[in-house]
Amino acid sequence: TIYNFGSINLDHVYQVDHFVRPGETMASESYQCLLGGKGANQSAALAKAGADVKHVGAVHTVDKQVLRQLQEIGVDTALVAQLDMPTGHAIIQINKSAENSIILYPGANHCLTEAQVDEVLKKTSEGDWVLLQNETNLVDYVARQAKSKSLKVAYNPAPMNVEMTKPLLSSIDLLIVNEVEAMDLVAVSSIEEAVEAMPKHYPDLAVLMTLGSDGVRYFDKGVDLYVPAFSVDAIDTTAAGDTFIGFSMAALFNGQSIEDAIKQGCAASAICVTRIGALAAIPELEEVTTFMSH
Ligand code: ADP
Repeated sequence: TIYNFGSINLDHVYQVDHFVRPGETMASESYQCLLGGKGANQSAALAKAGADVKHVGAVHTVDKQVLRQLQEIGVDTALVAQLDMPTGHAIIQINKSAENSIILYPGANHCLTEAQVDEVLKKTSEGDWVLLQNETNLVDYVARQAKSKSLKVAYNPAPMNVEMTKPLLSSIDLLIVNEVEAMDLVAVSSIEEAVEAMPKHYPDLAVLMTLGSDGVRYFDKGVDLYVPAFSVDAIDTTAAGDTFIGFSMAALFNGQSIEDAIKQGCAASAICVTRIGALAAIPELEEVTTFMSH
């Protein structure tokens, strides 16, 4: 089982003529409410890839449809707490130039307690994995406790917060970062420098670095792999990283080689970038398998 301690967000999206100005009340003709959050996206990608994934997190008691939506994708939500606290959400304005302006409220995503973490970790058994991002609270507590139980811990420090992330890395087995996160973590300003610095700074850590349309680099104790991205016409890269993480982790968990796992992640995320949206853009395993065989 993969236990994903992650965020669940409702994205309230409004297409507007311009961003609302101080003192202005503006009507929006369009509104969409979409399920998202890096945690939920990664759980969805894991489930679609066929992994046994249990999501750990929290939503408001009234938002049962959120849990149903995740369940329909195949995510086990029995460990998602239902609280008297707003579900994490974002108010997103998109203007005519396709720029966005976002208010993010973590709400229930920051309500994880140590008791809840302990309770969940008691249910784990040897060979289980824990997955973490930076959109929930207690990330370092979860990582340390999971490590002390000898579970494998994978960590996607997004959004990057260097002070929070660095002390945690001693509890991590697999770090998954994109270009910006990699550069921030090793404090350099180009991806070439990050590729060079990462294995030097963190020689004991297995690191997957996603490089957008350039593909993926992997380092692990002297192993240095590069897998190119698939060539597609990208129209929306939202959730590309989350899709990569879900599909590559599911393959690794099923015992595939790191190279095959990265290829599966690249294929799934290549399909994802050809579609609009986050959750809706994550492909099914069958599509990914077909895509790779061509
Ligand atoms: P994030 O979404 O976290 O910023 P990346 O942009 O690095 O992450 O994308 C994750 C993965 O998605 C890449 O490693 C690559 O395999 C795939 N990908 C992203 N953009 C493209 C693209 N334009 N064409 C093909 N694959 C892409």
